[in-house]
Amino acid sequence: MLDPRDWEAFRAAAHHALDDAVDFLRDVRERPAWREMPESAKERLREALPREPSEFSDVYRTFVEAILPYTGGNIHPRFFGWVQGTGTPSGAIAEMLAATMNANVGGRNHGAVYVERQVIDWSRELFGFPGEATGVLTTGASEANLVGVLVARTRALGSEVRERGLDPQRTHITGYASAATHGCVRRAFEIAGIGSEALRILPTDGRQRIDIAALQERIAADRAAGARPFLIVANAGTVDVGAIDPLDELASIARREGCHLHVDGAFGALAMLSSTLRERLKGIERADSIAFDFHKWAHAPYDVGCVLVRDGEAHRATFASEGPYLTRMTRGLASATPWFTDYVPELSRSFRALKVWFTLKEHGADRIAAAIERNVEQARRLGAAIDADARLELLAPVGLNVVCFRYRPQGLDEAALDAFNDELVIRVQESGIAVVSSTNIGGKRALRACFVNHRTTEDDIRVLLDGIRELGESLARERALG
Ligand SMILES: *Cc1c(COP(=O)(O)O)cnc(C)c1O
Repeated sequence: MLDPRDWEAFRAAAHHALDDAVDFLRDVRERPAWREMPESAKERLREALPREPSEFSDVYRTFVEAILPYTGGNIHPRFFGWVQGTGTPSGAIAEMLAATMNANVGGRNHGAVYVERQVIDWSRELFGFPGEATGVLTTGASEANLVGVLVARTRALGSEVRERGLDPQRTHITGYASAATHGCVRRAFEIAGIGSEALRILPTDGRQRIDIAALQERIAADRAAGARPFLIVANAGTVDVGAIDPLDELASIARREGCHLHVDGAFGALAMLSSTLRERLKGIERADSIAFDFHKWAHAPYDVGCVLVRDGEAHRATFASEGPYLTRMTRGLASATPWFTDYVPELSRSFRALKVWFTLKEHGADRIAAAIERNVEQARRLGAAIDADARLELLAPVGLNVVCFRYRPQGLDEAALDAFNDELVIRVQESGIAVVSSTNIGGKRALRACFVNHRTTEDDIRVLLDGIRELGESLARERALG
């Protein structure tokens, strides 16, 4: 067996590891936001498959010295890159406790299933979805968006599509989303066998929201050409700038056109928690399905997303399957239908719900909402500070929680500016002061700061700005000399 030979020695080692973990999180601010894993650390990991056992304490020492220091940075208060959640200390403990139960939450009749059902009930409540709506936790919004696309496919073509596959000769189904839509939606079309050419990419307006007139024209043109429009994907918080499509209007168009309305609200949908921000998502309650993440703006540790589906019957018809080894009973461990495996591609699933349940119960929706509101305010202030600085240029209006900007030294043309700002992003990261990422806004390379971080303070924003100014200046000096 693989249990400790000496439970008391294991207890001491486990306490030690837990103490280190608590210290590590308490002192996160004292370390650089990111540092590159040195060759020596990578070298320490490289070895052939270990055949002989090792002491737990030896394995642990390698972890502490060669792995733990090299985080992706997202637990740090000055991490503003991409859209990455911060996590919480108690979320980490919840992960440990979930692993202790080692629950397999594909289905059956045990505690973890009821915790996930409760988390889904809370999600339904948050978005004003009816009791018949179904929901399931996923690895993230990518999987949640895939589920949304597959359910829409079922609603358009019936569940026979599972047996027969798609026949473009018979029914050419087409979906619609703006150019600001996350790439995982395109991937979902590929994985679903619909093909990404059938996802029509619509232009956006000056605030990166879908161009409604273009959408309506494209739907009409596709219909005239014999295609069958089946799905509109709306954004509640685009990945580049946090733009929110006009959800209410899209819901009306979807209803009129007989299309499924799926909302990708990976981070933005969580703004529903806030009484002051909720208004911006008006119409989301009319969606046919919503994808969102608990691991971004709700701060549960990775990984956990969620999908809600209004038409629960279609959701089941998309995934439910049977096998003699999965027979459901009316009593005993094989009861408590429906099982979560009937709503997702996976059978075995981890107890993701526990960290969400802990987070929501410990902090309460209002405290999480306050952190979200603080992030929105921080983004607004950073935007204002950039606007007031002649060396910096805001590249998109700050809508929600994302700030896209660039450093503008004198006398560089557009191509040189792009290269300059890409280099600046790397230097900021390598300095360890903060992490920002880069993107393209209107064909210009941008520094991108996204606020989904509950640890960030006003002072952190000042440090970020000072760092960018200083590194920008020294880079500009180098370039002028060179
Ligand atoms: C992060 C993100 C995704 C992908 O979600 P994962 O949780 O990384 O799978 C999709 N859409 C948007 C808008 C996102 O920000």
